[in-house]
Amino acid sequence: MSGLRIPLDGPDGSGTDHALSLLAPNPSPMTLDGTNTWVIGRGEDVLVVDPGPDDGPHLRRVADRLRGRRVTAILLTHGHHDHSGGAKGFAELVRAPVRALDPGHRLGDEGLADGDVLTAGGLELHVVGTPGHSFDSLCFWLPEDRAMLTGDTVLGRGTSVIAPDGDLADYLRSLDRLRATAERVGAEALLPGHGPVLPDPIGALDGYIAHRRQRLDQIRSARERGARTPAEIVEVVYADVDRSLWPAAEMSVRAQLAYLDG
Ligand SMILES: [Zn+2]
Repeated sequence: MSGLRIPLDGPDGSGTDHALSLLAPNPSPMTLDGTNTWVIGRGEDVLVVDPGPDDGPHLRRVADRLRGRRVTAILLTHGHHDHSGGAKGFAELVRAPVRALDPGHRLGDEGLADGDVLTAGGLELHVVGTPGHSFDSLCFWLPEDRAMLTGDTVLGRGTSVIAPDGDLADYLRSLDRLRATAERVGAEALLPGHGPVLPDPIGALDGYIAHRRQRLDQIRSARERGARTPAEIVEVVYADVDRSLWPAAEMSVRAQLAYLDG
């Protein structure tokens, strides 16, 4: 590639030669600094990935940054509100279709699925199906920059959770697939849905896979020691995690129990 841009003051303006993050103003324990809206392209045509929440000033800022370039499609990494809430408003602003795996999130006739290849200004973006965080999660591979957009499947900091519409067995398979893909294609950056750019894809994915196995082991041993309910397991296994994250941890524990007992 291609230079990585990693500003010190947060994800806004980060990216690669042909991928730019414009950070949405929705920080929280779950969304880290906020949602990264990615503008992908070269020349006159661009793709916009994850408009973010329904926040007028953010959507107008993204549209302004395009400086008259044409948005050929708005893509969603998945349907969660912090990524998709602004899709309809942004579609009206830039007059572009919304493509997503979930038909309920599309605007226009075209869907989005594993194996699809999109183009913008001669750049290719390859769709990689990665269910798990949610049932409809997708990643996007940008070969020109050797960069993978990961949505919430891999975050720039900490770890991702399995949402109620996700599945841990699917998630573990998706992490393995992403790792194999990253190795095969020589990925040099992960561009996440939240948090900073990750310059070491294999290291980040190995860390995610190891973390998942460790949490599963901890849950098995917490149960052996008598913890029964998801809340009891959270108290033991996530004792070192800030309490504001415990509701998310409980969601994760439920997903892991479903996996262990499934
Ligand atoms: Zn998110």
